[in-house]
Amino acid sequence: MREIVEAERVYEALKAFQVDTAYYHSLGALAGWDQRTYIPHKGHAHRARQFAALARLLHARRTDPRIGEWLDALEGSDLVADPESPEAANVREWRREYERAVRVPHDLAVALAQAQSEGESAWESLREADDWIGFKPYLKRVLDLQRRYAEAVGYETEPYDALLEDYEPGERATRLQTMFAELGRATRELLDRILSSPIQPPVEVLHRDYPLEAQRQVAHEVTGLLGYDLEGGRIDPTAHPFELSVGPGDVRITTRYQPRYFNASFFGSVHEAGHAMYEQGLPAEHWGTPMGQAVSMGVHESQSRMWENLVGRSRGFWLFYFPKLQPRFAALADVNLEDFHRAVNAVGPSLIRVEADEVTYNLHIQIRFELELALFRGELEVDDLPEAWNAKYRAYLGITPPNYKDGVMQDVHWSSGMFGYFPSYTLGNVYAAQLFDAAGRDLGDLEEAFARGAFAPLLEWLRERVHRNGRRFLPRRLIERATGAKPNVKSLTRYLAARFGKLYNI
Ligand code: ZN
Repeated sequence: MREIVEAERVYEALKAFQVDTAYYHSLGALAGWDQRTYIPHKGHAHRARQFAALARLLHARRTDPRIGEWLDALEGSDLVADPESPEAANVREWRREYERAVRVPHDLAVALAQAQSEGESAWESLREADDWIGFKPYLKRVLDLQRRYAEAVGYETEPYDALLEDYEPGERATRLQTMFAELGRATRELLDRILSSPIQPPVEVLHRDYPLEAQRQVAHEVTGLLGYDLEGGRIDPTAHPFELSVGPGDVRITTRYQPRYFNASFFGSVHEAGHAMYEQGLPAEHWGTPMGQAVSMGVHESQSRMWENLVGRSRGFWLFYFPKLQPRFAALADVNLEDFHRAVNAVGPSLIRVEADEVTYNLHIQIRFELELALFRGELEVDDLPEAWNAKYRAYLGITPPNYKDGVMQDVHWSSGMFGYFPSYTLGNVYAAQLFDAAGRDLGDLEEAFARGAFAPLLEWLRERVHRNGRRFLPRRLIERATGAKPNVKSLTRYLAARFGKLYNI
């Protein structure tokens, strides 16, 4: 009995410390939102110094030796005997975070932070100028540091696994290789059939005049209808859309309004609202601890991609929403539901990942994953990257980038050292399809519900099976518990074949 009381006392001390760290971190998040939305141009230098000071404070707290002592006292105690209890899950995750933080030598952490921010700002101007030669030294530097980071945090057999752990805890490169190979084969087979179909979706209707104020109203209306609580959120315009969680009751998104392109703000808003609904569904009583946090980037992306694609591009959704949308835009006066639905689901190989359709998207990710894996296995070096990139685009998508900026330099991720992040996008699609299948088994015909405007049952199902669990389970376990199967590509390949088979009459 005395031991349990003692463990509880230690747990409360550790928890109070970690929750305070989370408050500091969330103030930084708020400053980050401001930096990406409304900060005056002259304010950037001071904001950068604020972030540097905050980073020093957070690093000191995350590596505070008291955390190690508290964890030593808790591990093995009766308080954490049940591995699925909130206490055990928090202790497990705090240990993981602490070990990773203390294994990185201070000078490496400082060098990484500097190389990442320099790499990203260099990328912005050098990409614009299509200057690969100028960009190469930045990329080499950040890759070299990330290789050292992988050695510092450790791995079993594959350096890449050390990076994956930051985004998708428990995931392994060899498993991803198998997943991408299977998904890639099915995708290319489906793509060939689509490309030989005589059906040409009338994508021109999406590039007409869409007045910005009406787009703004639609973005607010549609995200609200799907379940994004705007009383605890807001939508602001930015060049690069994102979702940002300040804390319970304050989960924000941004979107990009383009006067002559419907998809950018509409599907962008729905995507970010999907991220936001996950954050809004996390258990507020656990805020500041792992139990109150999203479990992984892949699971986060499963929520955004589900609302954007499986819901937002479904026929059921448009049966409900097209009659509401059409009267708002003169551009849609002569467009019927069938044509509009085909247009928002148009498929075709393209160079740019962020503009890719649902079918080809995972091929873009497969290319990046295979190149990253080769870089971290030492089978590929930066000098040979453009050639390797172009060869894969030819092999998988049948197209060759005419320059660097729409080829190897198109993504911000590598410039800022985010190797290991890309697989999250495809894992998101894989998880989304599995979760959607499982929800359909429990709830009945989801598209029929969407056609009536009933989105709450799906959101409630996700709250119960995914959101409310925070980090109680590792991602693979969470998906298995929610869907009855380990992560696998079957639901996704079946879903893609069914939806696009119908749209393209193949
Ligand atoms: Zn996303």
